[in-house]
Amino acid sequence: MKRAVWIRDGGRCQYPLDSGGICGSTYQLEFDHRKAQALGGPPTIKNIRLLCRAHNQRAAREVFGDALMDRYTRRSNGELFDSAPVAPAGTQPPRAVKKKRSG
Ligand SMILES: [Zn+2]
Repeated sequence: MKRAVWIRDGGRCQYPLDSGGICGSTYQLEFDHRKAQALGGPPTIKNIRLLCRAHNQRAAREVFGDALMDRYTRRSNGELFDSAPVAPAGTQPPRAVKKKRSG
């Protein structure tokens, strides 16, 4: 199966470039799922393409987002990223408490 993908893609990175062509690199090629397996992408020839290592990682970032990928790639150096979702200050209007006086 992978061999069929390799032949179809001519042993070259299929990452599309802005200029319209493809990367075409033959260096450090990996099999990439166009639709990630985690997202239900099938292991078919249609869904798999050749990408060079750099573009494979880039494609993964586009799918999963930088935050998730950073979790994997930054783990070793222990750097923390403080991206905890915090509501911006001032979004909650002050409550106008009016006391009703009975009488
Ligand atoms: Zn490439």
